[in-house]
Amino acid sequence: MHMKVLKFGGTSVGSAERIRNVARLVTDAGRNVVVLSAMSGTTNTLVEISDYLHKKNIPGAQETLNSLRSKYDAVVEELYDNAEIAERVSHELERTFSFISHLMENEFTHAEEKEVLARGELMSTALMQGYLEQCGVRCGMLPALDYMRTAQGGEPDIRYITTHLRRMIDLEPDVDLWLTQGYICRNAYGEVNNLRRGGSDYSASIIGAVLNAEEIQIWTDIDGMHTGDPRFVENTRPVSNLHFEEAAELAYFGAKILHPTCVLPAKLHNIPVRLLNTMDPSAPGTLIANFPPDGTIKAVAAKDDITAIKIKSGRMLLAYGFLYKVFETFDKYNTAIDMMATSEVGVSVTVDNTEHLADIVDELKNFGTVTVESDMVIICVVGDLEWDDSSDFQARTLDALRGVPVRMISYGGSNYNISVLVRAADKVRALNMLNQHLF
Ligand code: ADP
Ligand code: ASP
Ligand code: MG
Repeated sequence: MHMKVLKFGGTSVGSAERIRNVARLVTDAGRNVVVLSAMSGTTNTLVEISDYLHKKNIPGAQETLNSLRSKYDAVVEELYDNAEIAERVSHELERTFSFISHLMENEFTHAEEKEVLARGELMSTALMQGYLEQCGVRCGMLPALDYMRTAQGGEPDIRYITTHLRRMIDLEPDVDLWLTQGYICRNAYGEVNNLRRGGSDYSASIIGAVLNAEEIQIWTDIDGMHTGDPRFVENTRPVSNLHFEEAAELAYFGAKILHPTCVLPAKLHNIPVRLLNTMDPSAPGTLIANFPPDGTIKAVAAKDDITAIKIKSGRMLLAYGFLYKVFETFDKYNTAIDMMATSEVGVSVTVDNTEHLADIVDELKNFGTVTVESDMVIICVVGDLEWDDSSDFQARTLDALRGVPVRMISYGGSNYNISVLVRAADKVRALNMLNQHLF
């Protein structure tokens, strides 16, 4: 279909002023599908309320809910001068607050928690729908809970989504734009669920893929993917082009601007993804597309909370059998390995999920001596890194890290990244040194 998908994150819709700003941007952009996150802070607040409810701390839940309500009351007050629309939107928002209040009376279930978490996106789209109406924009509503669905394994059910979403769009052809919620979905049993924290990017990418959109735009609070994480690194600058593999590596290894799952649907359907800044809409941002390799280092990302596990075998077992047993153990406990390094006598791997660590270590002790180090960070240098080109990226990366103890090094799994494992305490220093030397 000849349309774009425009996704706006939490900060981009975080206040009445920002909502007005987004309305201006989408009205000028054509007949597109607009995907919204919850207003910034809302999903966190809903998580907090759920936590109080699980702990049966009703006053805590009530107080947090009251402050959420006041925040939304103030936004309604500021956003609308049409009293009828203000009344209607207030009524819609009130459904959320009374729904949550009712939950305080009984046992709080995990299914109810999912329903609570879904309310953030339902509220932000209600606010936007009312505001667009006030501006005279004809806006078609596409309720995500009516088309966004995951299959048995938790993956998006693309067939279901395609038929339902396309039908809904065909039913409302005479509109200026369509509006929908990111993040929220139903599972294979039809129960309300979500695509995990930060998952609105994923929603946008899935929607873009099933509609075969021209482009997927991720609008956020920064002018594209930077060379490093600006929360920790000084003097970063935006990267103009990334190809899909580079973007996927950066997202997976911690560049928060993109949700890790978001790249795949766009890549499979070859739909360009553009990262843009709502605070500075004319900035070029970052274009992610099927670019040919250009032999440059693009950016550095870091993944926190990594645990390294070393298994040293007394015998020379690495020839065969040993690695198999090690991997089988991780597989048995559904624990993914991020990074690995081998030698004749042992292997080191890293994991970010430590839920089954004790069991895994216990079993690994059958094959060798096991050491565990926590509080580590994977630092991932990403770009077009052909091993035999002349850019010398391996030497430059290690040279930049002079003085920082490096626990593991990995390159060669793909031509897109070189990763090093360092102590969490050295993360900021290492990231700044890399940014200074590589860009
Ligand atoms: P949204 O609410 O719009 O989804 P996010 O907070 O999820 O926004 O993502 C944007 C944030 O990602 C930026 O404000 C920035 O702090 C952070 N970030 C981390 N790494 C990078 C990077 N390499 N480039 C740009 N932003 C990054
Ligand atoms: N509102 C959800 C969250 O805060 C989804 C998103 O913003 O992408 O995680
Ligand atoms: Mg995000």
